[in-house]
Amino acid sequence: HADIAMYRAKQGGKNNITFYAPEMNAVDAARSAVEQHLRGALDRHELTLAYQPLHNAQGLVVGVEALLRWQNAALGNVPPTTFIPVAEDTGLIIPIGQYVLNEACRQLAAWRAHGTAVDRMSVNVSPAQFAREDFVDIVRRALQHHRLDGRDLELELTERLIIRDVPGVSRKMSELRALGVRLSIDDFGAGNSALNYLMTLPVNTLKVDRAFVQALDQTPGAHRIVQAIVALGHALGLDVVAEGVETPAQLLQVRELGCERTQGFLLGQPVPPENIRA
Ligand code: C2E
Ligand code: MG
Ligand code: MG
Ligand code: MG
Repeated sequence: HADIAMYRAKQGGKNNITFYAPEMNAVDAARSAVEQHLRGALDRHELTLAYQPLHNAQGLVVGVEALLRWQNAALGNVPPTTFIPVAEDTGLIIPIGQYVLNEACRQLAAWRAHGTAVDRMSVNVSPAQFAREDFVDIVRRALQHHRLDGRDLELELTERLIIRDVPGVSRKMSELRALGVRLSIDDFGAGNSALNYLMTLPVNTLKVDRAFVQALDQTPGAHRIVQAIVALGHALGLDVVAEGVETPAQLLQVRELGCERTQGFLLGQPVPPENIRA
């Protein structure tokens, strides 16, 4: 790591060495530790799924979102915002994503077999997973294996997927829709959004990025932004989900604005599967 830090510092000019080398060294070292431990995480059964409920406007649970959790002996609890980017860069997201899809389907089927009615499972999908030629087959097989219907599943995609122009995105989306699988745009409005894809791609749902929802309490303009996103979604015949709802005032506003579903710490934290029944 000293070599890499030195190399980078040199690129930035001689005088930067003493200031920047130690900091870069620490960042690179932390990332490489995550990568090293992540490699064996699946085999060691360190990855699990937590489930966060989604509620309809009447306050009933209409589904859950599966969220990865990683507990490692050396690193402790590592949040997905830290390890998902590493998994994406290293290709580990392929086996990890496969685990998530399969485990989430298995869990939904298990809940139902034990009388816990959960309408739908939402699963996050990285661009690299979607880019795989066999992605639709993988989804089809997971559904079949657990005797689920396509309508039981919602895949959460990000705008990164569309902006990167992943091969076959339009065809794969149509094939998934033909299976009954619903497609949601996660973190809508947060990144470098382009709206043109909404004209052509068979999307079902917009999830308003939680930054907008949380700004409802503080920023006067936030109300109009969420209002406009809901109007856009509804004009296109899409469902709108408000994520990151933390306060009663936010909940009231997103419901008044017409969001069909809400998700957030106010109504339910991500919890282990055994807590979902309660
Ligand atoms: P996301 O898909 O947008 O998931 C929502 C995130 O917001 C979750 O964070 C959730 O715990 C958090 N959240 C929910 N309600 C609230 C709230 O009221 N307030 C606040 N402050 N946060 C709330 P988490 O579990 O840390 O996941 C972060 C991101 O990691 C996810 O964002 C998703 O992009 C990614 N991720 C998680 N699991 C997976 C997975 O299985 N596959 C892939 N590809 N990405 C995943
Ligand atoms: Mg999500
Ligand atoms: Mg989100
Ligand atoms: Mg997010």
